[in-house]
Amino acid sequence: MSKHITIVGGGPVGCLAAIYLAKKGHHITIYERRKDMRKESEYAGRSINLALSDRGIRGLEGAGIVQDILNVAIPMSGRMMHSVDGEQMYQAYGKEGQAINSVSRGGINIALLNCADSFDNISIHFEMKCIDADLDRSIASFENSETHNIVHIQSDCIIATDGAYSAIRDKMQKLDRFNYHQYYIDQGYKELRIPALSDGSFALEKNALHIWPRKQYMMIALPNMDGSFTCTLFFPFEGSPSFSSLDSDQKILDFFAEQFPDALSLMPTLLDDYHNNPTGSLVTMRLSPWHYKDKVLLIGDAAHAIVPFYGQGMNCGFEDCTVLHELLDAYQEHEWDSMFAEYTAKRKPNGDAIAELALNNLIEMRDLVADPYFLKTKKVEKILSELYPQRFLSLYSMVTFSHIPYSEALKNGRINEELCKEILSIPNILEEWNSEGNLELINDLMNTFYPEL
Ligand SMILES: Cc1cc2nc3c(=O)[nH]c(=O)nc-3n(C[C@H](O)[C@H](O)[C@H](O)COP(=O)(O)OP(=O)(O)OC[C@H]3O[C@@H](n4cnc5c(N)ncnc54)[C@H](O)[C@@H]3O)c2cc1C
Repeated sequence: MSKHITIVGGGPVGCLAAIYLAKKGHHITIYERRKDMRKESEYAGRSINLALSDRGIRGLEGAGIVQDILNVAIPMSGRMMHSVDGEQMYQAYGKEGQAINSVSRGGINIALLNCADSFDNISIHFEMKCIDADLDRSIASFENSETHNIVHIQSDCIIATDGAYSAIRDKMQKLDRFNYHQYYIDQGYKELRIPALSDGSFALEKNALHIWPRKQYMMIALPNMDGSFTCTLFFPFEGSPSFSSLDSDQKILDFFAEQFPDALSLMPTLLDDYHNNPTGSLVTMRLSPWHYKDKVLLIGDAAHAIVPFYGQGMNCGFEDCTVLHELLDAYQEHEWDSMFAEYTAKRKPNGDAIAELALNNLIEMRDLVADPYFLKTKKVEKILSELYPQRFLSLYSMVTFSHIPYSEALKNGRINEELCKEILSIPNILEEWNSEGNLELINDLMNTFYPEL
């Protein structure tokens, strides 16, 4: 028997969840607070991109739109680090052929909206903001932002995909034994731009994620299809330097000239971008459970808002949808209370793990990518990946290029750290790793840390 399901939030994860549910024959109504971005976008004129990797790609496979997305994506096979004096150093992310993909945030949402719209059993209503819910009766209330009319929609269940500041999760916070923790880091972010050169070509290496690591802060840049790069400055709110200390045009220009001189020369609209683009804050939210009876399910950022330093927020949300899809196959319609409970049991530890990994990766990106010890561990990881392609995966590869649960990746990442430390304690190991004696030592350590089954 098919169900009538209300999805709150028509972002990327809401649309993908709707498509999976519709494919099982359920009747889905999506309510989205914003206007239809296919007609009118708040991002008009701004290219905002994000990195799509293997977990997200698998999620999109279910919607059958992976190729459409990848056709307008730019593969980034490694990070290009920019030093203060403009030197560039490239570090591959994974093996030959492996890459993360820079995709347009609006583009991926539009592709998913179009895909959802092609189903007879999905309808989408825009400018409908969820303002309240009666969780036990599965009623969500929406206010139309044009007319201010309020409607109360009852359905068999509510899927909340309304992002980090979810209205439905707000209601769940009032439930007995609902756990909720949120943590803002002291840095915010601002999007800036490096335009294409006059002949339309890219001003920097196209197939890389560029990083200007500066310890207390950093800037990154991802390529867009039009030859431009979207830069993101991750920067403290307070202190010196910070968003609050750069309080004049001259201070902004001087700061960029001192810290990002090679980028500054490519940023003709820096001051306009700096003043016109909002400063965003970065929050981590951990909560449980991710469901309420068989009435409500939280998916995507509504369940696990994380900082963006592993490029996994949306990928994790799409992986939620893959798991939901598997569970839809495993349970009958009358067993959805058990299905929702299993969803929480499966996903919550992984949400917490990627939240921790993402916070740790801020340190890696802004401090360590230019740190000599870190660079040595990257070399050891490369050697181990070549010697033991089946048994050793770097943490980055586990998170980005595999489907190993995040919680296992976190655990194995700690083992990798210890293993690398032991290997680096062997004298001259990086220079002479392939001598017979050293290969034997490496093998012994590998067997200790990752015993062969
Ligand atoms: C700077 C930055 C960089 C990032 N980079 C990456 C990256 O490289 N890779 C990656 O995977 N992720 C990245 N992310 C994370 C990614 O943007 C999110 O994880 C992803 O957008 C979550 O999708 P979602 O559909 O769950 O939520 P959202 O994208 O937030 O969508 C929620 C939707 O619900 C709607 N909504 C909200 N409230 C209501 C309401 N009350 N009623 C009705 N509708 C409502 C919103 O309008 C929106 O359309 C980044 C995030 C940031 C901030």
